Amino acid sequence: MDSYRQALNELKGTLGENKVFEDPKILYTYSFDASGLFPGKPLCVVRAFSREDVVNTLKITYKYGIPVTVRGSGTSLTGASIPSENSIVLDLSPMNRIIEVNVVDGYIVVEPGVRLDDLNSELAKYGYFVPPDPASSSTCSVGGCVAEDAGGMRGAKYGTFRNWVLALEVVLPDGEVVFLGEPVLKCRQGLSLLHLIIGSEGTLGVITKIYLKIWPLPEKIVRLMALFKSVEDAGRVVAEAKKHRIVPLIMEFLDKNVLKFVKEATGLDLPEAEAAIIADVDGPLEAVWRYAKRLEEIMRKCGAFEVKASDDPEEMEKLYLARRSAYPASLKLRPMPAVLIEDITVPPSKLPVILKKIYQIAEKHGVPVVVFGHIGDGNLHPVIYTDPKDRELWEKAEKCFKEICLAAIELGGAIAGEHGIGLVKKEVLVEELKARNSLRALDLMKKIKQVFDPKNIMNPDKVFL
Ligand SMILES: Cc1cc2nc3c(=O)[nH]c(=O)nc-3n(C[C@H](O)[C@H](O)[C@H](O)COP(=O)(O)OP(=O)(O)OC[C@H]3O[C@@H](n4cnc5c(N)ncnc54)[C@H](O)[C@@H]3O)c2cc1C
Repeated sequence: MDSYRQALNELKGTLGENKVFEDPKILYTYSFDASGLFPGKPLCVVRAFSREDVVNTLKITYKYGIPVTVRGSGTSLTGASIPSENSIVLDLSPMNRIIEVNVVDGYIVVEPGVRLDDLNSELAKYGYFVPPDPASSSTCSVGGCVAEDAGGMRGAKYGTFRNWVLALEVVLPDGEVVFLGEPVLKCRQGLSLLHLIIGSEGTLGVITKIYLKIWPLPEKIVRLMALFKSVEDAGRVVAEAKKHRIVPLIMEFLDKNVLKFVKEATGLDLPEAEAAIIADVDGPLEAVWRYAKRLEEIMRKCGAFEVKASDDPEEMEKLYLARRSAYPASLKLRPMPAVLIEDITVPPSKLPVILKKIYQIAEKHGVPVVVFGHIGDGNLHPVIYTDPKDRELWEKAEKCFKEICLAAIELGGAIAGEHGIGLVKKEVLVEELKARNSLRALDLMKKIKQVFDPKNIMNPDKVFL
């Protein structure tokens, strides 16, 4: 602890007292993230306003070997931004400047604390956007999105953040600064350290500047809502759409309970069904309704008993709100105090199988589960309800969580599509690699972590078991 006091004095002396916080009330607000699990108390919080603040902080924490948990907006659903034991939290939210929009060269440059919606509001002035859209976009930081390789609804067409990062400025654990990638559309630099940083969850360094590729906003969107009598029928739509060369901008799944929760929580007038799909098709004005009709036919062929399509802004907003409210509504009206949220991804052809299996597994373990997710790219978020105070129920929920992951692995899928590994998926990551005879990959990852972070001080308890 002595070295901690010394480090604290140096932090205050170098950064200024007004950037270093020890007040227990402030520390409490940084002790958890949106996963709602395992609060962890930081030693102190440093609020960084510039790259120099980050460099100075890391030089001091490196010298004293003090762990650092970087924080954007704390919306991680896997415990990734929960402070590690005896760590300081490095809060990057004050680094929130949009530095440059360059339409001709096709990029935007921002500091990591910029909120994703603010970035896209700025780009909208030019008719552009950065497509990945986590449902937390009004809150989450761009740095957090890169560090988590976040996705969202538009992942069906545009993938995750990985596909949009051109270059990054990164402060390494010892305070040295590196620039990875270039703000150009093609770039090779030997082994891609850029792509190691993307999705590294604050374990390798601190991202202090971000260059993202930008894309023209869709010319026209038509939104559809289809209702199904079974989850398997809904699950068949994605593969059928692919066979017919339809790539929707978004394709989202909500089961009957999520529909009910959203209706109750938002007051939206939503229909009843075993499952619903909300989908956007986009394209040129002349073609978009043709695409929408084709998707409607596909949905009906898969068993949809009702399909509505609209380009009316009010109606479209209602459906968008319904999908974006899925997780908050599932939390608000939860039948139990806590949830475990999954993030599995399966090949689209396996969606009907996994959807059926999820409910079977939940029933076997006797735990309530609801399902929503980005069905367009095979990414589902079953939400398992539980109670940390009820040991038996908690264990059942954990077993259910693991078994759903194993089912995804067995179907050739992944345990994590976009939420990262954090604290809660370390064990199932090992299961996935084991199933692929690739535990060596985990070993390599740990060695890479050691090369970047020899003192193991960057978010040390995350990702690796
Ligand atoms: C209601 C809700 C809906 C969500 N929907 C989606 C969704 O649709 N798709 C999706 O992908 N995710 C979703 N998420 C998860 C979460 O919002 C994303 O992972 C988001 O990218 C996290 O951003 P953040 O700024 O909150 O990061 P934080 O939670 O603060 O940090 C996340 C991780 O990144 C690290 N980190 C943060 N900033 C930096 C940096 N500058 N340099 C290095 N490391 C850093 C942290 O140490 C931590 O490990 C949702 C969350 C909520 C609460």
